[in-house]
Amino acid sequence: MNSSHVSSICPYCGVGCGIELAVQNDRLISVAPQRSHPLSHGQLCAKGWSTAYGVDPAGRIHQPLLRNNDGFETVSWDRAIAEICAWLRRIGDEHGAAALGVISSARATNEDNYAAQKLARAVLKTNNIDHCARICHSPTVAGLQQTLGSGAMTNSIADVAHTDLILVIGADPTENHSVLGGQIMRAKLRGATLIVVDPRRTRLAKLADFHLQLKLGSNIALINALLADIIANNWHNREFIAQRCEGFEALAASLDGACEGIEAVTGVARDTIRAAARAYSGADRAMIMYGMGITQYVSGTHNVMALSNLALVCGQIGREGTGVNPLRGQNNVQGACDMGCLPNVYPGYQAVAETAVREKFSRGWRTEVPAAPGLTSLGMAKAAMQGDFRGLIIFGEDPVVTDPDQNHVREAFGKLDLLVVAELTMTETAKIADVVLPAASCAEKDGTFTNCERRVQRIRRALPPPGEAKADWRWLGEIARGLGSDQLDWANEEAIFDEMAVLTDSYSAMSYAKIDQHRGLQWPCNGEAPTGTAILHRKRFPIGRARLVPLTPSAIDEPADADYPLLLTTNRLHFHYGCGSMTRKSPLLERETPPGILFIHPRDAAALGVHQHAPVGVRSRRGYLETRAMLSEDVPPGLVSLPYHFREAPSNQLTNNAQDPLTKMPELKACAVAVRPLPAGQAPRDIDRLRGEGLVEASHANL
Ligand code: SF4
Repeated sequence: MNSSHVSSICPYCGVGCGIELAVQNDRLISVAPQRSHPLSHGQLCAKGWSTAYGVDPAGRIHQPLLRNNDGFETVSWDRAIAEICAWLRRIGDEHGAAALGVISSARATNEDNYAAQKLARAVLKTNNIDHCARICHSPTVAGLQQTLGSGAMTNSIADVAHTDLILVIGADPTENHSVLGGQIMRAKLRGATLIVVDPRRTRLAKLADFHLQLKLGSNIALINALLADIIANNWHNREFIAQRCEGFEALAASLDGACEGIEAVTGVARDTIRAAARAYSGADRAMIMYGMGITQYVSGTHNVMALSNLALVCGQIGREGTGVNPLRGQNNVQGACDMGCLPNVYPGYQAVAETAVREKFSRGWRTEVPAAPGLTSLGMAKAAMQGDFRGLIIFGEDPVVTDPDQNHVREAFGKLDLLVVAELTMTETAKIADVVLPAASCAEKDGTFTNCERRVQRIRRALPPPGEAKADWRWLGEIARGLGSDQLDWANEEAIFDEMAVLTDSYSAMSYAKIDQHRGLQWPCNGEAPTGTAILHRKRFPIGRARLVPLTPSAIDEPADADYPLLLTTNRLHFHYGCGSMTRKSPLLERETPPGILFIHPRDAAALGVHQHAPVGVRSRRGYLETRAMLSEDVPPGLVSLPYHFREAPSNQLTNNAQDPLTKMPELKACAVAVRPLPAGQAPRDIDRLRGEGLVEASHANL
């Protein structure tokens, strides 16, 4: 019997815990924590322990599939690549390169993502490259880049053990980043102050010294009120502001009246705001940690900048135990951004708009690169609706489930001439593709992931992919070759990493050998910082002085009204991840949560005649779904919350596509809905059945 143990990294959230894969006869039989891993210290959450189910060959796609009149037929790789290339050529000839695009994956390796953006730019000649950061942390990249000069977590996860105060805002780490959530709980138990800002009463909120249970979308009003109190009481850090910031006077002037009527605007008591302001500004070391409860709003970028204002005014940045720390959702969403899988930047956030950057990549890749700005993923869907966008390659993402306004996305993809999807399993997006390619899982390939604290870590091939599945960079290379280009001809993953590091200053002193030696390296890792950087902005900001920016509170796009009297927000659950394509293969995880749940306050439930676990219909202006009610006082009256993972009752059937004008981030955290009990004896119908019955459009909601 052949057996081995292979060290790798958990494929789920952005914490990046270390796992050991136990392999017997080319089969992954179990997963255990790496005992001495520098972040997870021998711990995993339930998802990490269940990794083997997520990559099991059962239910995986084993061979390329080509759509025919009856559905799909199995074809060879050669045939699949030839068909894809013929379509790409035809679309490019008839409609131009702007009609083509690639959506890469925050679940895939840095090497796969680098290959994807290079295929788009160097071979297809378009900047139409994007990935799911668009709908999670694009406001972080844009907001922190503007105020601090770097759009990433400023500090390290290890700092949680050394800080005096943690302000968690719009994040639920014990559910979504559970090992980190446990570290925050331990920090609280050893005496750190915990402030939680969240409309829902999360597990951390129940433990917190202060829970600021704000009204949905009132983040800027609340942060401005905290700032106004801090400045009015002289609790700000004058020395830090004088030495390292610009724009203080304008910010201070803009806060006049910020506290007037604040209790009505935010729902948070005036005294609680003042006490939280005093605690944050008075702490020796205070960390801000935030998630998609900050970014997924039409004001997402400004919400991020408001947090930056707060940290800067108090001098809570550039030291251990401080900083502005976005909790990235997916295992490699940081890396996919770093690799330039965004329409406006090359690897290392080098701007497409800058001639010198384009010249650098043209020289490095020995080909002209396009200057025209690219489309975001949602922009590609919009252009497809208008007939201006025709051919799309997607891997490791399921936009039909994860993007807002599901019916719109499905219709837009239906208008494409070519939709190629590479996946582990038949996702909802794969089901409507023209060509489906079998992808290798993280246990079946080499490469690197970059976690939320900018730490680049190695993942290792522990077993062969099932059937004919292969790593994404390999089939992306075959498409390039089919189009007559050798741009993606690398010998292995290490060669891709080395090419990327030559062109990307923040990764320039990294190599596979050095990453192994240091158990991961945090960027920037370059000539100035050859062993990486645990804490950003210690002495200076990349933009010189940090920018303080006056910000005006704005309302959510779709408030409740007489027709849609409740507000809906979305949340994630401890036992599932993303669209559930991996975690829902685990019977252990699946048994922990009933499929589809609508959290509703008992008072609202009573008013509607809805009892615990009762089947309900939920309608928004965009769609309709059915699920079961879970009565909970953890959501306030007037707010309902729907988890994101369940394809039977997908929250994006309902969510609002209104966007942050700066990043095109849709407002996934807030929209208006109506909830009604279903007739006695009627079980919730899943979305496929509702679609079959023509009931998914809001106008046919039958409520
Ligand atoms: Fe994996 Fe995140 Fe859980 Fe760690 S906390 S085991 S990285 S899902």
